[in-house]
Amino acid sequence: MEIIRNLFNDKDVALIGQIPLLQTRRDDVRFWIHDCKGIFTVKSAYKWLMDNFNASSPGESVGFWNKMWQLKIPPKIKNFIWRLGSDCVPLKSLFLQRHVDIDTLCSMCGLEIEDWRHVFVIGCLARNCWHTVLPQVLQLSSLSILSQTRAVVWLEEIFRALGVEDLMVFCVTLWAIWFARNDKLWNRKPVTASQILLKASSFFQQWKEVQSKFGLCPEVSVAISPSVVQWMQPSVGMLKCNVDAAIFAGVGKIGTGWVVRDHEGKVLNACRVSHDGVPDATVAEAISLREVW
Ligand SMILES: [Zn+2]
Repeated sequence: MEIIRNLFNDKDVALIGQIPLLQTRRDDVRFWIHDCKGIFTVKSAYKWLMDNFNASSPGESVGFWNKMWQLKIPPKIKNFIWRLGSDCVPLKSLFLQRHVDIDTLCSMCGLEIEDWRHVFVIGCLARNCWHTVLPQVLQLSSLSILSQTRAVVWLEEIFRALGVEDLMVFCVTLWAIWFARNDKLWNRKPVTASQILLKASSFFQQWKEVQSKFGLCPEVSVAISPSVVQWMQPSVGMLKCNVDAAIFAGVGKIGTGWVVRDHEGKVLNACRVSHDGVPDATVAEAISLREVW
């Protein structure tokens, strides 16, 4: 009681003194109330979080998330879609909601507020991308859906309406739009809708080839767009080596990589290396070419 008197005022000391104490002496133990045995498991914590999540977002269907996780697309693209559906993609509109005082105009065109509708659905570049590869996306994006605060409502609608192959194209294109936005914002690289589609197409194609080479994923034949430039195989008996470089100015590094393919487009060898320093794009490309030798 002495300790309690030192810490609390008289009124609280009286209230604390009225708390009935158990007569039997038992040591305190930790008890996890979301498990019938009181034992904490990651599984029970996940279930509890998901129950809360679904209860607080009645519009969201577990079916949408399940469908998304099962798509045969690169994990980093699934992660991106998950972040977009969870309002964790750092669009400028989200900074505004959190009262961060920054310029909120679109990083690509600078004409409108950078929110999910502008960047991913009806903005300058997104509209052109969808018009070329998946016009259904624009038809499905009704005014009532676009008036929603959260992008997940739009994603759910698209996932409900499109088939699996179209959904793969949809997800990879969304990721490429976000990649282009970041390239413009951080590396000041100008970008066009056809470059976005080319990036989506070549990245997805190479990922599928590597997957099928190592037997990680069955061959899937999804073309992003027949109208954009596609990789052309070399003539019989020849090999083709493609190189590329990416600049990560924020961490002062560049990433380089090359891939060698034969006349059937089969991947024979590939490599990626990172280097310190931030040269301009031409030098970065030259460094990645040097890696081949
Ligand atoms: Zn814009």
